[in-house]
Parts: sequence; structure tokens; C-alpha cells
Amino acid sequence: MRADRTTRLDRLIGAKGAKKFADQLGLATAGDLLGYFPRRYMARGELTPIQELPFDEDVTLVAQVVSSSNRRMATRKGSITEVLVSDRPGQTNGPSTLSLTFFNGFKASKQLTRGVVAMFSGRVSVYRGRLQLTNPIYDLLDPEDLDPEAAARLAGCPIPVYPATASVPSWTIAKAVGTLLGQIDLASLPEALPAPLREKYRLPPVADAYRMIHEPESDAAWRSAQRRFRFEEALVLQTALARRRAQHAALPSRPSPARRGGLLDAFDRGLPFELTAGQREVGDLLARELAASHPMNRLLQGEVGSGKTVVALRAMLQVVDDGGQAALLAPTEVLAAQHYASIRATLGPLVRDGLLGGADDLGVEVALLTGSQSAGEKKRSLLAAASGQAGIVVGTHALLSENVQFADLGLVVVDEQHRFGVEQRDALRAKSLATPHLLVMTATPIPRTVAMTVFGDLETSVLRELPRGRSPIATHTVGLVENPSWERRVWQRAREEVDAGRQVYVVCPTIGAGAGDEGDLEALDAATWGGTALAAPEQQAVSVADITAQLEAEPALEGVAIGVLHGRLDADAKTAAMRAFATGQTGVLVATTVVEVGVDVPNATLMVILDADRFGIAQLHQLRGRVGRGGHPGTCLLVTRLEPGHPSRERLAAVAASTDGFELAQKDLEFRREGDILGASQSGRRSTLRLLRVLRDAEVIASAREDAIEIVADDPDLERHPALASAIEDYLDPEREVFLERG
Ligand code: ADP
Ligand code: MG
Repeated sequence: MRADRTTRLDRLIGAKGAKKFADQLGLATAGDLLGYFPRRYMARGELTPIQELPFDEDVTLVAQVVSSSNRRMATRKGSITEVLVSDRPGQTNGPSTLSLTFFNGFKASKQLTRGVVAMFSGRVSVYRGRLQLTNPIYDLLDPEDLDPEAAARLAGCPIPVYPATASVPSWTIAKAVGTLLGQIDLASLPEALPAPLREKYRLPPVADAYRMIHEPESDAAWRSAQRRFRFEEALVLQTALARRRAQHAALPSRPSPARRGGLLDAFDRGLPFELTAGQREVGDLLARELAASHPMNRLLQGEVGSGKTVVALRAMLQVVDDGGQAALLAPTEVLAAQHYASIRATLGPLVRDGLLGGADDLGVEVALLTGSQSAGEKKRSLLAAASGQAGIVVGTHALLSENVQFADLGLVVVDEQHRFGVEQRDALRAKSLATPHLLVMTATPIPRTVAMTVFGDLETSVLRELPRGRSPIATHTVGLVENPSWERRVWQRAREEVDAGRQVYVVCPTIGAGAGDEGDLEALDAATWGGTALAAPEQQAVSVADITAQLEAEPALEGVAIGVLHGRLDADAKTAAMRAFATGQTGVLVATTVVEVGVDVPNATLMVILDADRFGIAQLHQLRGRVGRGGHPGTCLLVTRLEPGHPSRERLAAVAASTDGFELAQKDLEFRREGDILGASQSGRRSTLRLLRVLRDAEVIASAREDAIEIVADDPDLERHPALASAIEDYLDPEREVFLERG
């Protein structure tokens, strides 16, 4: 039988096997299996015998499980799995055995049962005088692999190790691939890489590359094949992005050149501070782009408090000066209401209210539109937007609903991009005949190549310097396992802040009681850009409900008013909670990550983040940006119940050690498992990128981007690159398109 890419797997490996491949690995066709690449390759020479294990080095070894046991951790919820392995058949103790320790290794305890053979990689450490590996990564192997005779037979050829599961182990996949390679005509596969690029980078043709990646005869072979597929992936992605940019840039937009003597000038004259050099520079750039007849499409990155909002407001005023309207989209109602209030406060006398009119002609009406407004308020705002009377409309996604019309929408500003999908952006764009200019703001610093990949259809600008007068934030990790008494100390510290007239945030990962246990929206949200992946599933995270009750009974906080804020409160309760905290009526606010995005209470000086290990680096960094905004130094305490040495505590240490958002963003990527960067794995899907790693492959991505721009400039519809065009279509199936569309 001949196979091609569309051949169903049941015809190759039988119905039973095919069902497992489909259920466990998501592979249905020959093409799927062909594209399921080994995760790494085993070269026997590189394996370390257990007898010769060096201390404090990274090692890889093949061994068989002798025994495995689980115990609960003494000090908190969670378990430790202890696995004893041996690399000498028959030896179950002595120098050929090694102990492996897994914290909350639920999967390890299920998979690494007696007799199982696996390849383990990790760093050798010493615990109680014995060498061990902590949380090593491992791949299950064919028990034959431990047999010296089988080893000799395979000597020389690198052994592919596939991402596998317990019931579909690596060697089963390798066998299926072997069957497939015997039946498929590789020469008939379409070649997506243009020949000149293959020559330029010395990359093997597609047919050779598939064989070299699945059945390499040498390390050089799989390396070369990987290089090819990596570049191909980068090129496909960057060509798709280059086309989007080109198509978008060709659309007509409403040019809004800066006008002298208008609102913007008046605003600048009234500013109580001087713009930073960065704000001026980005401001000039935006001014030029707004004046152009093609749409601006820009991502503005800057730390919390770097002054993005002022920059955005100035851009909005330029558009309003020209008779257009600007819309500002915020991710939550709290934030929308806050933007509305702060924009009005910042504009001061330039705000004109409804038909009453200001003292003179120069002014702009600012309208707020959110889902929870009363029918009357909504109607007024809708009218103001549709009639053009409101120059600036602030809102949540309610702004996107069909009944919202604008008279002349010239600019859309989206705050905190990562909660907004592109369908939403497009919906807003659709509200205008000409394509509105778009400015996306984010406080999450994004390394350059990630920006190129995830936000590849946007140009990016960065505000690096913080306005003067900002106080530094001191961050400390508080480990309750080693210092149980510190818990009390934390609340005493909170008391001291309140007594000094300041305020305290207490952030919890979950909402808790009465909010429904099945899914915690805010915790899930956290996962999309922070990664709670490492947190122990069986450990119950502290909740707003529990902590509120605990703090109300806490002697150190006696007499202190405690407020509560989370996403499941209705809009009025949220507003009331924010107002009570902002005005100092409540000294302590127990909240979820709703405080992460832009909530601004300058008098807050202390933030206590409980179970901080549940949050990602970027999120912790963003959270702590909420304190130290008012000229008083801020403090952030990262409280954890994880044992010292737990891998997740490294993230806390990283956040405590640096306040540079870009440095942390880079760290964040390094800590995350490969593929998580684009957020796919947290939603249970397979990683979006296959071989490409945005961090490691920065150069590949950058050169593919240049090549892609050339290809698209030369052949915009890819008529002369049909295989590349269809590779783009395959690659961008609806699931995958999601990440292209963020921003
Ligand atoms: P971001 O949106 O980036 O978090 P904001 O624009 O909200 O930052 O600015 C944070 C605070 O700093 C605001 O109170 C703002 O008025 C103030 N601010 C902005 N730019 C400057 C500046 N150049 N000098 C002093 N203060 C500034
Ligand atoms: Mg902001």
C-alpha cells in the first residue's frame, strides 16, 4: 500500500493503535505523524553510568525503576514521590542505584512503576549525604534499551525520543513512523521552502529532512533536519505576518494631522509635569503616524506607571482636534471606570459635559460605556458616541456590541492587550468606514522576538524610563515553611502601614467560598500570562473568602477596616470597594488579581501576595507595581508555603531580585516549559510552535522575518510560492490563528 499525507493512521497501524494515537497524541493522519518530531535524541556515548555520577552537573542516564513510594509533605499539602532506579539489570541497591525526588510528581508516581525503563535528565544534588536528582525530566523507554546487546545493536545511530505517554511510549511511535516511512512517497511532498533560501542557509530538501529527523544516521543529520524545519516554521509564520501587515497597511484610514492651537496644545500647556524623553519621542512618532493616510498599528510597551496613558491621551486629543473620535478599551469595568475618572481629572478644564458646554469652545466630551450602567446612562453614552458629541469614549467590551455606533472613529486605544482578542479589535475597526488607527498598550514587557512572533503584525515602541519621583519597591520572599512565625509578622507589618496612614493590598489566588469551586476565573486568567502550571494541583490555594475571615479575627489588625474586591462582585460592589479603599475608609483590601491591571491608589504602600508561587513572574511584577506610586516607598511580600528548594520558588527569587521588567520577562521565558510562551499548553492544547523557540531561535526568526518581507514585497499574493501559501493555510488553522490574533 502507498500512503500519502492524508492517509488515516488506522490503515497504517491498525484501528486500535490509531485510536490511541488519536486520543493521546492528537495524531490522525500520516501527515500528522510525519510532523510529530522527536523531542530529542539519545546518544549512548553521552549517557552517564550511575556509578560515575558527578556532583552538581547536568546528567542524562538510562535506568530501570527498582521501587517507588509516595509520602505527604510534613508541613503543607502536597506529596513527594521517591523513585529508586538502577542502571545495572538486577542490582537493586549499592553504587548503581540512584534516588529521584519529585515534588507533587503525580504523573511520575503513576508512570515510574517498578520495572519501567526511562531516560532521566537533571542536575545532580546531595540530600542527606546521598546523590539524587530532583524533578528530573524523563522519557519512558523500551525495556530492551537497558539490555547491553540491544544497546550494541543500536550503537552509532542516535535514537529518537518522541514526546510520549504511558500507553503510547516513544518506541511505539518510532515503530509507527518506521512503517510510515516505508510506505510514503516522500518525494511527492510539497516543498514550502523556496530553493534560493534553501541554498542560502544550506538546508536539506523536504523529503530528505523527514527521513533525517525521524531516522537519523548521525547527529549531524537530525541537526540539519531540525534547522530546516525550524526555519520553515519561522518563514511560514513570518510570511503570514508580513502579509497581514502589508494588507493592513494598504487600507485607507482617516488622517488626523496635529493642529496648532487645539486641545492638544492646551493640554500640553496645562500638564503639571514634563514629559519624559521617551514619552516625547513616542508621542512624536504617534503624531506622525496619525497624520498618515494608512492606519497606525502600534504596540506600546511600558512598565506600570511609565506614563503610557498620558501618551495615549495625547494621541486621542490629536484625533479629536481634527474632528474625529477616539475609543479607549479597558479589560474590566473597574479599569474602564478608573480610566474614565482619571482621563477627566487629567483633562481638567478641558472636559466639556454634555450640552451644558464649557466656559469656552475648547473642550472634549468624555463618555463612559459599560455593561452595568443603567439604561438611561447607557442611552446617553450611546447617543454621544453616535452623534459625535463625545470625542472620547471609554469602555469595556460593551463598546464592541453591535448597537454602539460612532460618528467618526479615528483611533482605538486598547489597554492591556493580553485580555483582548483580535475579533474584538476587528469589531471596533468595523465601526468606521476608514480603518481607525490602533494603539495597543501593555505593561507586560515582551522580549523582541516574542513581539515579532506573537505581535508580529504590530510595530512596537517601548517606554523605558519611569517618570521621576517614583519610589523604589522592595520585594521579599516570605517562606512560611522555614519561618512559620513570619505569618504573624506579615500582619503586624500591615498594621504598621495602616497606623502610618497608608494602605495595604492582600492578594489571593482564588475567590473561594460561595463563588463556586469548579473554576476560578481569575486564577485561570493568571495562567494565561503567568503560568500556574507548576503549582501543585492538590494544594488548596488560599482564597479571598478565607483570608478575609482570618484577617477579621487577626489580633494584629484589630479595628482595621477590611475591604474585599474580586471579579465576581457586581459592578456596584466593585466600585464601592474601590472607592472605600481609594478614600482610605478601608485600610486593607483583600483581592484577587483584579488589582493587577491599572488600579491606582497612590496611598497604598504594602502588597502582600499569598501563595505567590501560584502566579507567574510577569504577573507578580505587574501586581507589585500597584504600590509605591504616591512617593512613599513600596514593599511587596511574596508569601509562599512551598518548601525551600521547590522549583517554583526560583520564580519568586527572580522577582525579588530584580525590578527590571524586561529582565524579568526574559527570565520568565527561560523558566517556562518550551511551548508555553504562546499560551497554548495551558488551555490543554498542544503547543502552537513545534520546533521554533522564540528565545533560543531569535536569530532564525529575525532572518526569516527579513526573507518573508522580501517574498511578500515581490509576490504579495504568493502566486509564485504556492507550496508556501498552502503551508501557511495548514499552519494557520483556526486554532493556531488564535495566537497570531492576540494583541
Ligand atoms: P501607565 O499607564 O503606564 O501605568 P500612567 O500614564 O497611568 O502610567 O502614569 C502613572 C502616573 O504617572 C500618573 O499619575 C501620571 O499622571 C504620572 N505621570 C505620567 N507621566 C509623567 C511624567 N512625565 N512625569 C511625572 N509624572 C508622570
Ligand atoms: Mg495604565
